[in-house]
Order: sequence, then C-alpha cells, then structure tokens
Amino acid sequence: MAVPRHKHTRSSVGQRRMHIFINPVALATCKKCGRAVKPHTICSNCGYYKGKEMINVMAKLTKKEKKVREKEIKEAEKNN
Ligand SMILES: [Zn+2]
Repeated sequence: MAVPRHKHTRSSVGQRRMHIFINPVALATCKKCGRAVKPHTICSNCGYYKGKEMINVMAKLTKKEKKVREKEIKEAEKNN
C-alpha cells in the first residue's frame, strides 16, 4: 500500500483546496411574474418565455390552485 512521504500541513491542504467550491447559480427574473428563473429557460410559474406563452401552466392545475396562481400572476403584473 502507498504511504504518504510527508505530512500535508493544513496550510498546503487549504491552498490546494481553495479552488474547490461550488459557484452560485446565475438567475434571471421572469419578466411576466417576477420570479427567479434560470436564464434561457421557460418560467415554470407562468409558462412564458420571451414574452410569449410556451406552456399552458393552468391546464394541469385544479380549480383551487388555478385561482391562487392567477392571483399571483395578476399581482406580479401590477408591480411591474
Ligand atoms: Zn414567470
């Protein structure tokens, strides 16, 4: 079995690992509803991309969920 030749100090270990980290995800805001979305993707909240409706988000929701979602979108449009 391989045995390490020298002790790795905390400093040298830290210096090696200083480049090992996770970059924060860059997010854009949806122009319709104002939610944080990944750039170049359809908004999962309202289904819009580049000002056009790409997915009908309301189709799969129940009546109660539809009401809540419509209210959220209306409020977001008012703020914009
Ligand atoms: Zn949206």
